[in-house]
Amino acid sequence: MTGRVDFRLNAQDQIISVGHDWDRFARENGGTQLSGNGVLGRPLLEFVSGKATRTFVQSLLQVARHRGQPIELDCRCDSPLLRRYTRMRLQSDAQGGVVFSHETLHSETRSCPVRVSVASQRGRHTPIRCSMCNKIKPAHQWLEAEHYLQNEAPDDPQLWVIYGICDTCALQLGQCTDNLNAQHEH
Ligand SMILES: [Zn+2]
Repeated sequence: MTGRVDFRLNAQDQIISVGHDWDRFARENGGTQLSGNGVLGRPLLEFVSGKATRTFVQSLLQVARHRGQPIELDCRCDSPLLRRYTRMRLQSDAQGGVVFSHETLHSETRSCPVRVSVASQRGRHTPIRCSMCNKIKPAHQWLEAEHYLQNEAPDDPQLWVIYGICDTCALQLGQCTDNLNAQHEH
């Protein structure tokens, strides 16, 4: 998939419009409950899984609103068969709203399919999936999902995860915050 998936939040973080690619994007990412009509008026954070990711999104919104310019972060919007390298862009408006854009920069076919579902609770061996780069952390290291599956469950593409944010992606947000502080000091 190429192109952009855009949605707009009001100052209360409710979704007030979605771009024309939203429905297809939601479907491809396993979220039929997220189809365009169903999301309007609802808080974005309802659709964000995992406490660490919610905190991350709240920080992103805070930085976007305090900064006059857009902020951009690298992320992934993978589907079962594709690694999709995307750029997320947040731009605030004068009313305190924020527009999110996701642009697919390029895609790669996976070496094996990966189907991801959210575990209802975290078991001892439930890996964390980074919401930004889609890597998997079963124990100490962040890995591509295919590498994890090939070692752990080569015959089963189904992966049950909880969501979080890896150190590298947290650092991207840290850099936006540092830039913001530097702007205020000058
Ligand atoms: Zn990450």
